[in-house]
Amino acid sequence: MKKYKNTCLFIPSRLILIVIFCPLICFSQDCTTVSAEAMQLKSAGLVDVRDLDSTIAVHLLYAGENNFMGVQMYKSLREAYLQAEVANMLVLAQKYLKQINPGCKLIVYDAARPQWAQVIMWNKVKDTPMKKYVSSPGRISMHTYGVAVDLGILSRDGMELDMGTPVDFLGALAEPRNEAKFLASGELSREQIKNRELLRTVMKKAGFRGIPNEWWHFEALTRTEAQKKYVPISAK
Ligand SMILES: [Zn+2]
Repeated sequence: MKKYKNTCLFIPSRLILIVIFCPLICFSQDCTTVSAEAMQLKSAGLVDVRDLDSTIAVHLLYAGENNFMGVQMYKSLREAYLQAEVANMLVLAQKYLKQINPGCKLIVYDAARPQWAQVIMWNKVKDTPMKKYVSSPGRISMHTYGVAVDLGILSRDGMELDMGTPVDFLGALAEPRNEAKFLASGELSREQIKNRELLRTVMKKAGFRGIPNEWWHFEALTRTEAQKKYVPISAK
């Protein structure tokens, strides 16, 4: 009996302490741990897509060195930020994907990209044939307006669906405009194209547009619309 009584007394005491001290701690400092790079995006008014739908997977390519540059661009950013209306469109795309294949989910590889990051990227490619894939600092990237997203699909068992090339593969095989040609030559399989089509279907239904040279890149607005509504994310 004594044991139960002590337990009952103990829990309310702890609850009282939490109720008293948690608000004090939260008022004295930001309770959420937001990195400096994330804070820059947050203070520019962008939202973390996983705050809207935590079932969307995020694995930022440029938070590590396994990308076409071989460079870790984001030192602390690990979340995908987008303009709020774009993040909401992505939530819709995830919903449509689950309707078609309940086991699958979207995985985001890059979202809003500040101008300082775009400059790092451009400096890596400007003297190479890869430069046609990267916006120069003079032409603001749609990622820098927070209206573009790079993404793929994870299967029920958490594996990336085979799209025929890795994400970030800068070459003709990754270009949707060449799919018929590479299907005919056997360099892309029907299954790989079907996987790309699944991604395009759900993104298009949610209001995004793809581009002809990267299967993973989608934009929520036209350049003119983005320029009218948003300012580029620039400051470091
Ligand atoms: Zn992109």
